[in-house]
Amino acid sequence: MGQPVLLCSDLDRTILPNGRQPESPQARPLLRALAARPEVTLAYVSGRHEALLKQAIAEYTIPVPDYAIGDVGTTIYEIRDGAWRPWPAWAEEIAPDWRGRSHDELAALFADVNDLVLQEAEKQGRFKLSYYTPADMDRTALLPQMEQRLGALGVRASLIWSVDEAADVGLLDVLPAGATKLHAVRFLMERKGFPEARTVFAGDSGNDLPALTSGLQAILVRNAHPEVLREALDTLAAKGAADRLFIAEGGFLGMNGNYAAGVLEGLAHFLPETREWLRTAVTPAQAR
Ligand SMILES: [Mg+2]
Repeated sequence: MGQPVLLCSDLDRTILPNGRQPESPQARPLLRALAARPEVTLAYVSGRHEALLKQAIAEYTIPVPDYAIGDVGTTIYEIRDGAWRPWPAWAEEIAPDWRGRSHDELAALFADVNDLVLQEAEKQGRFKLSYYTPADMDRTALLPQMEQRLGALGVRASLIWSVDEAADVGLLDVLPAGATKLHAVRFLMERKGFPEARTVFAGDSGNDLPALTSGLQAILVRNAHPEVLREALDTLAAKGAADRLFIAEGGFLGMNGNYAAGVLEGLAHFLPETREWLRTAVTPAQAR
């Protein structure tokens, strides 16, 4: 067996071909072949909650991972024999930010705010308060007021607000300040013994940028938005770390570099032995 590999990847439009660009037909079969190798530990890094992670795995026939960083970084699931268990060590790592307060105690802080409506139960977590807001909410007024109330309890939180334009609704997550995707990836590396040289992260969009520009070996899939590419390159150039990001171009094993094809192309760039694993995994039926 070769040396261990930790592949951490975003799902939507990075491994899942749910964007408007075409997917090469060999991409997901090759990803499945890669994940089946004993050297490979696979971690999905996603904003999805457990049910939506499982739905994506079934719908797109992608490999069941060894770990899933879900719920916007607030949970790391360990998956063994098909059973998903939140990893207690990660909860302990981020718990101090909440200062012992429960989800409901924190929600009670904002019970009087008419613009905040709690999202469905499956979108809530021990370390995640999620609200709907009006799409046109004046966040410059509300968010500082919320920060002030949390700060008065010593709670360290990130308030992440975005608009779902299709649904015309605002989305607000209140998360422990330490519960970022990047921190979760680094925690996994440290606790499971994966050095930077054996770890690769892949993503496509703005919420992947902190990890893409962290100095970890990182891959931007070819279908990424040009603005994300530009911002990643600017950030890395300022750090003098441009060589830590691989931008998929297509051409690897006859694939187009979008989605999983781009992930595999980048993996082969950083860890050349994986190129051979993938090349020999192409069956005549796949190599059309
Ligand atoms: Mg994505």
